[in-house]
Amino acid sequence: MGITPDLAARLAREGHEVVVEREAGLAAGFDDRSYQEAGARTGTAKEAWSVDLALIVEDPDPSPGPAALLGLLHPFDRPEAMVRLARTGVTAFAFEAVPRTTRAQTVDALSSQATVSGYRATLEAAAALDRFFPMLTTAAGTIRPAKVLVLGAGVAGLQAIATARRLGAVVSAFDVRAAAAEQVQSLGATFIETGISQDEAQTGGYAQEVSADEELKIVEVLAPHIEAADAVIATASVPGRPAPRLVSAESVERMRRGAVIVDLAASSGGNCELTRPGSTIEHGGVRIIGDTDLASRVAGHASSMYARNAAAFVELVVDEDGKLAPDWEDDIVAAMCVTRDGKVVHPGVRERLGDR
Ligand code: NAD
Repeated sequence: MGITPDLAARLAREGHEVVVEREAGLAAGFDDRSYQEAGARTGTAKEAWSVDLALIVEDPDPSPGPAALLGLLHPFDRPEAMVRLARTGVTAFAFEAVPRTTRAQTVDALSSQATVSGYRATLEAAAALDRFFPMLTTAAGTIRPAKVLVLGAGVAGLQAIATARRLGAVVSAFDVRAAAAEQVQSLGATFIETGISQDEAQTGGYAQEVSADEELKIVEVLAPHIEAADAVIATASVPGRPAPRLVSAESVERMRRGAVIVDLAASSGGNCELTRPGSTIEHGGVRIIGDTDLASRVAGHASSMYARNAAAFVELVVDEDGKLAPDWEDDIVAAMCVTRDGKVVHPGVRERLGDR
């Protein structure tokens, strides 16, 4: 949900007229009355679309409506949709284009949603596994803790590690960024050395795609760790690129029956060769979860974190009188703008469109 009653109240206090689509908050636990009590007006989808600035989560209505729009628009995976959006005349801002600076952290919805999905991925793994995560000493015997392997230790991966540790699992992890090793260890997990490591100071904070030879080496070093794991939580990705293939079908076949893989990289193709995006499959008794909506399964907190990111962005695009007036000199505002004056303006999206 793009806005919570708390933040609707804050925007209303600041003098904005807030219109919320009727029943849009129900799935996140917010009914119409809570928005009305916060000072917002609830209306039809059309009324909520006829505003100066629309705050959405995903999938914008392709018809003309708001002057400006903010959401997770998938501009790099769906550049053609940005062309259609531009034609409506809307000034569209995409969270996917948020710069990686300290100042931009308050508007970084990718990170807030990655936190939620990393947490939920571990819970999915724990629920699907045929074993306990923690060590237990009981009258029926001593139970050894589960072995969890986390691949990719960015925002989602670190939250997955922290959650698995809280549940008492023995955790190991791998990431290509050298800086991740210390973060993994500070959470009480073991970092797996593959001999492939990148200095992120030279790669703009993001990992870079590894070469085919490097990927082979990583797969080879990781294989015995995968095969010994009870649960693998795979989160490795490179923005705008297909997910790195880290888990081969052969490794899955060597895992024990009852083990589980949660592939958070499913929407960009999956870290596991066998992942089916959006589905859960079983292969040789190993369950492979490729769900792409894990953040929405913690809808309340996912919404409140998302709405805080959206409200922080609103501050950047309204003037002292509360009127929509983006400051194009602001590096965050400029970087997140995808369409303006009827055109796709984001260089990364334009590059993907080529001559189209
Ligand atoms: P991401 O979602 O882009 O990718 C997930 C992880 O996959 C990354 O850690 C990446 O290094 C890893 N990865 C990519 N290719 C891999 C491969 N072949 N094998 C193994 N791992 C691979 O990453 P993210 O969550 O956005 O975080 C990346 C870094 O950026 C982190 O250090 C994070 O703290 C930092 N960050 C900074 C800001 C900011 O400064 N505003 C915002 C968000 C994240």
